[in-house]
Amino acid sequence: MGVGTMLRIIDLEGKQAVDFLCYDAHDPLDRYAAADTMKINAGGIFLTTGTVLYSVLEHPLMTITADTCGRHDTIGGCCSNELNAFRYGAAPGPNCRDTFLSELARHGLEPRDMAANINFFMYVPVRDDGAMDIGPSISKPGDYVDLHAERDVLAVISNCAQINNAVNDYNPTPVRAIIWRA
Ligand SMILES: [Zn+2]
Repeated sequence: MGVGTMLRIIDLEGKQAVDFLCYDAHDPLDRYAAADTMKINAGGIFLTTGTVLYSVLEHPLMTITADTCGRHDTIGGCCSNELNAFRYGAAPGPNCRDTFLSELARHGLEPRDMAANINFFMYVPVRDDGAMDIGPSISKPGDYVDLHAERDVLAVISNCAQINNAVNDYNPTPVRAIIWRA
């Protein structure tokens, strides 16, 4: 996506987590930095309208310009076959880590290029004692988030297929991504 381009991610049926990675298109080592984004944005651990997605070199990669859901996660990470086996004894199946890796490979990137990700529409409440929970999502059918590219970026989406916990309300559903020039 070129600088100035807009990306809209629509949760068509609601309660669907969309895992998201972002890189500088010309320098993939300069990639989304979850911890820096949480520290720099005054809103803290939850992402919403106005949140700037910062890179490890503190370059703004994208800005959330609209958000009808109201809360997105960047601490919960992504699912994987290994995590699903460890936590749920689940057999291998579709998972966000493998989706990310297959898409990254198309751009010459490797497992070592994986970074902490964003989970749009994923609900990860954190209690005062530090305990975190996952889901079910608070997003409604048709909820969307708009992102403005602040530089040329590689944005990678995995529509989460998780069925072992409440992240997708045990029912993964389609999402739509629309890209346009502002
Ligand atoms: Zn997932």
